[in-house]
Amino acid sequence: MSKIGFIGLGIMGKPMAKNLLKAGKSLVVYDVVSASVDEVVQAGAERAASPAEAAKSADVVVTMLPNSPHVREVVTGKDGILSVVRKGQIVVDMSSIAPLVSRELCGLVEAKGADMIDAPVSGGQEKAEKGTLAIMVGGREEAYNKVKDVLDLMGKSNYVGASGAGQITKLVNQTIVGINIAAVAEGMSLAKKAGADPEKVFNAIRGGLAGSQCLEDKAPRMFEGRYNPGFRINLHIKDLSNVQETGRGLHLSMPLVAQVMEMMQNLAADGRETLDHGALGLFYEKLNGISLKN
Ligand code: NAD
Repeated sequence: MSKIGFIGLGIMGKPMAKNLLKAGKSLVVYDVVSASVDEVVQAGAERAASPAEAAKSADVVVTMLPNSPHVREVVTGKDGILSVVRKGQIVVDMSSIAPLVSRELCGLVEAKGADMIDAPVSGGQEKAEKGTLAIMVGGREEAYNKVKDVLDLMGKSNYVGASGAGQITKLVNQTIVGINIAAVAEGMSLAKKAGADPEKVFNAIRGGLAGSQCLEDKAPRMFEGRYNPGFRINLHIKDLSNVQETGRGLHLSMPLVAQVMEMMQNLAADGRETLDHGALGLFYEKLNGISLKN
């Protein structure tokens, strides 16, 4: 039976690791926060003292970390994965990071004869717990096929292309979602200011072309003032920062992302960075001196 190293046991990593344990997988886990490791060890995993220790005896090594610097540290740092990685192993980075960093780290791992795929996710804590995440995969297709059964225990995976393609897909997702939520907040602000009931407007338009999962999830939040996460503003800022860095490198003009980034930074400046990204509704409330609550 294959052994899985799992590094990064936060909001997402912890339930993902627990789902692998529930499915009978043998896990060796590491996180800089030892209390998080304790919880997953209690659920049946083996404890590792470093990323290298988590990777050493594993066939597959999953990382679920905040951003590019953390993944770089875990792969290339002291007692990192690279110090022990060997031919036949597959590193699966499920964090959302910059595509160029994914490609760079993949090259370093491949130089040691192993594989690395990028497999960021969409869906949040609830879907991580249910094992129903959307997983976007980049890297060598042969490597993906070898770990597909492991990914299936955490959600539904889609192979997109070469190394970095999974991360590019995630950035596209975050671009569309961020702009869509801002559009919902802007449209509902117009309804409110012009004297129409935003909730009635919502019900009238949800079945038409303006309908979307963002409208379905975020408009009711705005009407209820319910902004518990969900997906936090600070994580979306991180993702849009990776979008902008990637876009700048390509001389790609992304005016809408720039606007949404400013709105999210403004919310963060107001101390609202840990709220759900639906809190773009609060930005519009402040901007226009209105309340979207019903
Ligand atoms: P988190 O901050 O809750 O968890 C990250 C974990 O990594 C923490 O437990 C932290 O202690 C650990 N860590 C940091 N540096 C480390 C190191 N050097 N070595 C070992 N462990 C280290 O974040 P999260 O919400 O679980 O998100 C993880 C990734 O998934 C992020 O890239 C995020 O953008 C993405 N994501 C999150 C959500 C969500 O709703 N939370 C949804 C989709 C994607």
